[in-house]
Amino acid sequence: MATKVVVLGAGYAGAGAIRQLEEELENADITWVSDTDYHLVLHEAHRVIRDPRVKEKITLPVHDIKSPSTRFVQGTVTGVDTDDRSVELENGDQIDYDYLLVALGSKTAYYGIPGMAENSLTLKGLDDALQIHDAVKDAAKTASRNDPAKVVVGGAGLSGIQSAGEIAEYRDKHRAPIDIYLVEALDEIMPGQDPELQGTVKKYLLEKDINVLTGDPITEATEDEIQFDEGEPLDYDVFVWTGGVTGRDAMDDCNLDNQHNRVTTEANFQTSDERVFAIGDCAIIDQGENPAPPTAQAAWQAAEVVGENIARSIRGQPLATWTYDDKGTVISIGDDAVAHGVKAVGVEFPVSTFNSHAAKFLKKMIAARWIADVGSWNRAVKAWDSL
Ligand code: NAD
Repeated sequence: MATKVVVLGAGYAGAGAIRQLEEELENADITWVSDTDYHLVLHEAHRVIRDPRVKEKITLPVHDIKSPSTRFVQGTVTGVDTDDRSVELENGDQIDYDYLLVALGSKTAYYGIPGMAENSLTLKGLDDALQIHDAVKDAAKTASRNDPAKVVVGGAGLSGIQSAGEIAEYRDKHRAPIDIYLVEALDEIMPGQDPELQGTVKKYLLEKDINVLTGDPITEATEDEIQFDEGEPLDYDVFVWTGGVTGRDAMDDCNLDNQHNRVTTEANFQTSDERVFAIGDCAIIDQGENPAPPTAQAAWQAAEVVGENIARSIRGQPLATWTYDDKGTVISIGDDAVAHGVKAVGVEFPVSTFNSHAAKFLKKMIAARWIADVGSWNRAVKAWDSL
């Protein structure tokens, strides 16, 4: 009987791995499970906040990614039973596996902040981005120059900055009376990043009339205001929470070694169960001192190697060790972009932080290359203007 390989998730990790697995495992019986029947280019989802039509360009149907022989099951994974070697779905169905690749991504972290989950919008999927668009649009409708709508974005990592940038573009395009606030707990936006990058991004945010408040964490959210550790509360009409990510509940009781529901793996992606592999945001992949970060870039790179390792495991061969290669950061602030520490074909750019056309081109190129990789260059070309 053919070896049953099951892949969970259609994010960068799952979608990227499917094609590799299909190439490596000609005779296997592959099943791909995801709650959506499309792959979303998540690192461009913020563009939908400005213009919902972009959604067509940054979603790829799973049937355009997988080969016809791979079975696709649409469903939400609620658990994995490693003793029984089966996956449980929300609708009660069970899928058996011989080898499993967990690529379930991450969910928004609320850190137990009172009222945060109930009162905030998030940006972890296409529907989230559409909801933010609608909320901003509705708030602007009832606002005026004298009484502008207040949109607050909590958390100034990449998601928060890019969301605030798109809301500013929406405001300017529609001449909408909106005040935008970007709120960060720590003293600088993009905490831990290079000061030159932080400074360049902050300059763009301020130029786009985005109020940047730093150095005071949000401690509570109610239905119309957020409270801080020290400062005065800030009232809002729309509140978007981009304060970080954590693991999926589905990995709660799976008996695999994990930290906060993120499955820990060796550098070869093997978990504490030799039949189960994990990559992407749902995994903490050992890379020595620091694990690989929960980014699209890391998921994409891991997806290129995991198929080979699952194939080797089936054949009883030694597994390859993966090393994450940080190719730098490219961030958009509306129609502008900033790049930092970028490597192309392994070579670092002569200037560590740069902006303007080169960075914008690079940002588009990264997204287009991914769409071409999992879809086709034809699709990537069609999406180019929206990226
Ligand atoms: P993040 O963890 O990078 O940023 C969250 C921010 O929220 C941090 O700056 C944190 O200090 C702040 N924060 C946390 N608690 C807070 C509080 N109580 N009050 C105010 N601020 C608070 O999260 P993210 O931006 O969602 O990104 C998650 C991962 O995804 C990161 O690794 C990021 O690099 C990656 N990402 C990549 C892209 C891309 O375009 N390549 C886009 C989005 C995210």
